[in-house]
Amino acid sequence: MLINQGISLYMVDALLTQDPYVKVALNVPLRATYDYKIPKALAYRHHIRPGMRVKVPFGKGDRHSIGLVIETCSNSDYDDAQIKPITALLDESPILSKELFDLCAWAARYYHHPVGEVFFHALPTSLRKGERPEFRTETWWFLTAEGKATTAESLKNAKQQKAFLEAAQQHEEHGLSPHLLTVLELTTAAAKGLEKKGLVRSEQRNFIKSVETHAHQKQVPPTLNLEQAAATKTILAMRNEFGVALLDGITGSGKTEVFLRVIDALLKEDKQVLVMVPEIGLTPQTLRRFENRFNTDIVLMHSNMTDRERLDAWLMIEQGEAKIIIGTRSSVFIPTANLGLIIIDEEHDASYKQHEGFRYHARDLAIKRAHTQNIPVLLASATPSYESLANALQKRYLWLKLRQRAGDAELPQMERVDLRGQSLKQGFSENTLERMRQTLERKEQVLVFLNRRGYAPTLMCHQCGWIAACDHCDVNLTVHKRANKLHCHHCDSHKALLHTCPECHSTELFTVGEGTEQVEGVLNQLFQHTPVLRIDRDSTQRKSALTQITQKIHEHDQAILVGTQMLAKGHHFPNVTLVVIMDADVGLFSSDFRGMERTAQLITQVAGRAGRSSKRGHVLLQTYHPDHTAIQCLCQQGYEALAMDGLRERQQLSLPPFYHQVIIRAESQREQYAMELLMALRQALSIHLSEDMQIVGPYAAIIVRKAGQHRALLNLKSPQRGNLHSLIAYASNWLELNTKNNRIRFAIDVDPLETF
Ligand code: ADP
Ligand code: ZN
Ligand code: ZN
Repeated sequence: MLINQGISLYMVDALLTQDPYVKVALNVPLRATYDYKIPKALAYRHHIRPGMRVKVPFGKGDRHSIGLVIETCSNSDYDDAQIKPITALLDESPILSKELFDLCAWAARYYHHPVGEVFFHALPTSLRKGERPEFRTETWWFLTAEGKATTAESLKNAKQQKAFLEAAQQHEEHGLSPHLLTVLELTTAAAKGLEKKGLVRSEQRNFIKSVETHAHQKQVPPTLNLEQAAATKTILAMRNEFGVALLDGITGSGKTEVFLRVIDALLKEDKQVLVMVPEIGLTPQTLRRFENRFNTDIVLMHSNMTDRERLDAWLMIEQGEAKIIIGTRSSVFIPTANLGLIIIDEEHDASYKQHEGFRYHARDLAIKRAHTQNIPVLLASATPSYESLANALQKRYLWLKLRQRAGDAELPQMERVDLRGQSLKQGFSENTLERMRQTLERKEQVLVFLNRRGYAPTLMCHQCGWIAACDHCDVNLTVHKRANKLHCHHCDSHKALLHTCPECHSTELFTVGEGTEQVEGVLNQLFQHTPVLRIDRDSTQRKSALTQITQKIHEHDQAILVGTQMLAKGHHFPNVTLVVIMDADVGLFSSDFRGMERTAQLITQVAGRAGRSSKRGHVLLQTYHPDHTAIQCLCQQGYEALAMDGLRERQQLSLPPFYHQVIIRAESQREQYAMELLMALRQALSIHLSEDMQIVGPYAAIIVRKAGQHRALLNLKSPQRGNLHSLIAYASNWLELNTKNNRIRFAIDVDPLETF
């Protein structure tokens, strides 16, 4: 609020009663806020409120930082003389709405994370740096009255000006945009020349970047089947208040079609819809389906945008210009004008949780946000997380099931391939290869899933047994033959592929195990007339690579796709009728209690790529444990049955979602420090433990050393969130005090997805 000169005395008095101090959050990893004074000159002119950005002195010398006002106060714990004044006020009104401000404050408390880092995470980078929340402007050119009356012929000595004036006369009504200038090959120099002569004038206009809305005919929606129609109706019935619905629909059951119907209804009420997706890779696909249906601006929000693009998108959403927002994790913090629904697609996906720094879970925050804004949330998945299933079982979420595939597709048949005693050809049983041949002969496609990229996970010396290991982590290096490199998948360091053993100088080095790169090579040899396409993080590094590969898949009848979990996500390959899971045993004996849940989700999602059109699909699970109850259950009864078993087990073992968990991680360069710190912390916490609380550890991380840091964990559990949170508040203060003067870093992970 800017106060102009003609201000009344009464108002001056009101402003002077403004609190003299503010608490400011800075983008630093400290839990404190900082007190500053409001200079009188500023107080006269502005009403400073929470959510405004300020520039303040911070650190040594005359350094400054951008901060966010958290609250104003009438007094401070510090001596007035010690408190520095604010240098500048950057906003005339709060940059975050009250709702988002409260969401961030809540998240900082819930995740026990430094409040400044939380607030700054919620802002686009350019606003963090202090830029103004404004669209970029561009110069448009318009004809003046004099320009109207002048004939272009009279300018024949100035060719470019003549062309410009002609164009300006042609486009008299709407003016000339910079875009039009480029298209018509007109110059700004000509425009300036005409401006001097008074024939044209310029105007600064907001640049609004929107995804092109295609003018072509919109797709006619299919007729919903009974399950889809019922789900749509139920969701629409809950659209005017908070509530969570879990759309639990098998792969290909038409969940996305349900979203589209619900969104259509909300757009008619002029509401905005936020659609969250786990990864950017997915957004273009989702975007296309939305564009084909709706005639409205759709804005994407993901990490692969420039600062400027992000700010423009942010403003369009904030001002309500964009109705549909498709975004990844961080879009949960997008300010909106009239949000009517949040959809979280693939809600089970672990990428909704930030794994470092501010470790929030976007699904959980979205639900919190919807609650405060009194709007519904729709969670969707073919393999819901055990957390969401538990909530559905306890009737906290509405459980909507889609159990049929849409159209005339059927769910694929899952079969086990017993690997025991078989002679394998680079990881494939003869039986599997025969089924692949038959599939290809029918001019259909095969998808081979192996969740390990690179050529091989291990390089070993035949003479002395040396194994190539990372210098910074306790893991083996992965062989990447094509790149001629040894690569650490944990710290990203790499070195040139070795051909002689550094220990005994033997040249007999060999690889153990296989990754997608090797399997691709093997299949190329075995099926010489069939294109083999690899989809993993290495093969899709270039920007348009994934699009190119998927295009190739659609061009050929016969093809083999080899890939990692990237294949599991939402892709639609209509001609894939056989899916081969090379190693179904990966998660069976995982030390993490979520191992089985993850594996079952991955297998089910990959399996779901088979038979998505009219041809029936088959899935082969290669396993050494065909009688393992989990493998049996998954093949015969499916994901839900397995999840129900898993939930019972979690309850018996006092694990999430029945117990709440917080993990405190510490890491240090010196081996013992992290562990010792956590032992001391455990000691300090022991007197504050209530009876229902359990504390496990400290224990060393499975990969103890990662990127040169030794890592230890302390695990705290309780069926009551309240008690646990007071304990963690105490722990975080203790940690901040006790790590001040040493080089131990710590992190608090509330509701962790990984416990090792
Ligand atoms: P999901 O999101 O559950 O995996 P989709 O919404 O992608 O499923 O639907 C799978 C396929 O079935 C898509 O090609 C979609 O266009 C089609 N589809 C969805 N609903 C119907 C319907 N009611 N009738 C015919 N085809 C449908
Ligand atoms: Zn050797
Ligand atoms: Zn490493």
